[in-house]
Amino acid sequence: MYSERIGSLSPYLFAAIDDARVRAIERGVDVIDLGVGDPDRPTPSHVVEALCRAARDPSTHTYPSYLGLLEFREAASLWYLERMGVELDPETEVLTLIGSKEGVAHAPLAFLDPGDLALVPDPAYPVYRIATVFAGGVPYSIPLEPENGFLPDLGAIPEDVLRRAKILFINYPNNPTSATADLGFYREVVEFALENEIIVFSDNAYSELTFDGYRAPSFLNAPGAMDVGIEFNSLSKTYNMTGWRIGFAVGNRDILKGIGEVKTNIDSGAFEAVQRAGIRAMKGEQDCVDEMKKIYRERRDLLIKGLKRIGIRVTPPKATFYIWAPVPEDYTSIEFSKLLLEKAGIIATPGIGFGEHGEGYLRFSLTTPTNRIEEAVKRMERLKDNLST
Ligand SMILES: *Cc1c(COP(=O)(O)O)cnc(C)c1O
Repeated sequence: MYSERIGSLSPYLFAAIDDARVRAIERGVDVIDLGVGDPDRPTPSHVVEALCRAARDPSTHTYPSYLGLLEFREAASLWYLERMGVELDPETEVLTLIGSKEGVAHAPLAFLDPGDLALVPDPAYPVYRIATVFAGGVPYSIPLEPENGFLPDLGAIPEDVLRRAKILFINYPNNPTSATADLGFYREVVEFALENEIIVFSDNAYSELTFDGYRAPSFLNAPGAMDVGIEFNSLSKTYNMTGWRIGFAVGNRDILKGIGEVKTNIDSGAFEAVQRAGIRAMKGEQDCVDEMKKIYRERRDLLIKGLKRIGIRVTPPKATFYIWAPVPEDYTSIEFSKLLLEKAGIIATPGIGFGEHGEGYLRFSLTTPTNRIEEAVKRMERLKDNLST
């Protein structure tokens, strides 16, 4: 019944984890879910208020404009100017998205013809690969290795691959590895893109979730980036708005035009009341972001302490709400995640779920209440005795 496109998906691992979680809960296990990256805290109340007000205004009830409200695009461009120092024309260099996942998933449709290659990091957010396949393209994996700070080695990509490649996906601060990139890397990417005529899709969903004084740059900070690529950003992680489905893309106007073309024919834009709430989030007080960062940092340090107890050493990440933890030798990532669930009731995502180079790691998400992370740490302490026998 299903298309080959659907058949080519491999959702089995994540489905299997979810299955194991449900079965554990049925057995009465008090499961601590550090698997999914979905903020546990509510959207800031001033943003919720803005939605309520906007929803009562009937002018938001009609089909929205395809490109997004101009005021939303102005707010996003102002936010990029203030936050990243990047100047954008809200009319042509900003596109509203129904969550950045929507944009990432649709983007390859505008640029890939059957057989074209997209350079996809491994491990990575699964949407890059799937969107490529859905568009008829072929994903070419570029490994992210710890020796390289989980940055791709662009120089190692073979000539014949470069000739067929049309898109490069990058994502820093990174999900799942929590690695960060500096401006030097982005400069290298621009040079690489110009040389090989490759379009760059930078996914900066975690740009604001940074710690210890670190500030994540934008790909668009690199000179020439506006000529070769775009950047996806999202209100989901920054303002605890994953359920609202609102994000945007910024950068090269021709690339954005292509994505807009696809979207015009598929969706009819983001609910204007949600866009108005998004404006409030971006233009309003930013204390809520600082508060979340403090909470994630506290959880990060707690969990790292717990991991240390079971012999897993992790350098505190400078960004994202993930801990990318190497599993003990003699275990695969799936085996160790099973052990954690069975012996401690803790769910973490096996790295292999993000690509074959994710093997050997588990991803722990910090989007669970702090007292539950404290409980997870206690269980890890008890698990320690289990592991050594
Ligand atoms: C969460 C996430 C997104 C998408 O978020 P939206 O809610 O669709 O805006 C995009 N990229 C990465 C890497 C993510 O982790």
